[in-house]
Amino acid sequence: MERKNLWDLYTDEQLQELEKVSESYKHYLDVGKTERECIREAIKMAQAKGYRDLNDVISANHTLTAGDKVYAVCMDKTIALFQIGQEPLENGMNILGAHVDSPRIDVKQNPLYEAGELSYFDTHYYGGVKKYQWVTIPLAIHGVVVKKDGTKIEVVVGEEEKDPVFVITDLLIHLAQEQLEQKAAKVIEGEKLDLLIGNKPLKGEEKEAVKANVLKLLKEKYDIEEEDFLSAELEIVPAGKARDCGFDRSMILAYGQDDRVCAYTSLLAMLETTDVKRTACCLLVDKEEIGSVGATGMHSRFFENVVAELLNAMGEYSDLKVRKALANSKMLSSDVSAAFDPMFESVFEKKNTAYFGHGLVFNKYTGSRGKSGSNDANAEYVAYLRRILDEANVTFQTAELGRVDVGGGGTIAYILANYGMNVIDSGVAVLSMHAPWEVTSKADVYEAYRGYGVFLRGN
Ligand code: MN
Ligand code: MN
Repeated sequence: MERKNLWDLYTDEQLQELEKVSESYKHYLDVGKTERECIREAIKMAQAKGYRDLNDVISANHTLTAGDKVYAVCMDKTIALFQIGQEPLENGMNILGAHVDSPRIDVKQNPLYEAGELSYFDTHYYGGVKKYQWVTIPLAIHGVVVKKDGTKIEVVVGEEEKDPVFVITDLLIHLAQEQLEQKAAKVIEGEKLDLLIGNKPLKGEEKEAVKANVLKLLKEKYDIEEEDFLSAELEIVPAGKARDCGFDRSMILAYGQDDRVCAYTSLLAMLETTDVKRTACCLLVDKEEIGSVGATGMHSRFFENVVAELLNAMGEYSDLKVRKALANSKMLSSDVSAAFDPMFESVFEKKNTAYFGHGLVFNKYTGSRGKSGSNDANAEYVAYLRRILDEANVTFQTAELGRVDVGGGGTIAYILANYGMNVIDSGVAVLSMHAPWEVTSKADVYEAYRGYGVFLRGN
């Protein structure tokens, strides 16, 4: 049951390819700090590889056949890419799924206020965060403001060298005696995660002059009125780019690696794979961090509808075929796994834990308190995956999220499994998951990409 360290196994050629994959992954993280940005970049990459919008194919009355590549997008936040295989679609697809939303801090709908001659955005955090981690670090704002007439204004502030950044303040140590007695969950409370955005009053203004000045600047730069925040989606994320980590540059430190590390490697494998037997699919979804809800989350009918459209565009639609296509599919539901952290050894059970440099992680089940809420992958399916990966010399490891009864977490796996298909949780190990800056191993990123390619080419 001993698992090898990937760094000992790679050839020079593989190490070169590993660096290439790492560089392109870091670029994806830099241009994709929100779900919208991730989907936009995915579309760009897919189009460059000959993928066409399924809607265009439908309106051109084109019949899809083996080898055709298409994609469908839901509300700019979720994408499904397909490459039509030689086998009938009703025989099922090989599906790679991952999510592109990440924990962050969202700007409220009525956000702007002034206190103590400082101006703030009021916020509501998104997903599971240790709130104390988000104070006193440089933050950027990404998102859209949609005006009443439908005009969409894209906002990115805090990423360019010359851009200003923003910050959430913390109490100085000198006055923190009481604060430091609090439980970590209470040290910084949700309503205290407000973003500092200005301190200069508008000349001649008597009331809330600092806020008035911010509004004036927003009007000048973006043509936004205060009421336009009502129809805005502005996300506060750590400012700055993905970086190599360690003297040996073996790791990557970046925001949003949960779950863009799986999303990007799935996407890359999808785009690099051609001539598939079974129809290949890559599904990048939104809202996983808050329960896969909403139109763009995995619980949405979007994916099922697209499969129906696909069959229709192949001239083969029937309700039964849609059901068969889904039930006969195989899926890798990829999401990040907790990497073993020697600083917090006690929460791990070492035989069933993911380690950096040990490859693609499989979680047969997730859940908590007696596997509750888990998709428990079928042993037959796990055996199939062992076989195809071993045959292709892809290194993998199996893990659970921590010791029994220490905690737990969910993914999108169980939602797809509802169709009766084979699904397993897989992915890449991460240190400091959900922190503003998360760590991955370049070897695991590369091995995930290799494994996903093997899966897509599988029978
Ligand atoms: Mn995740
Ligand atoms: Mn997560």
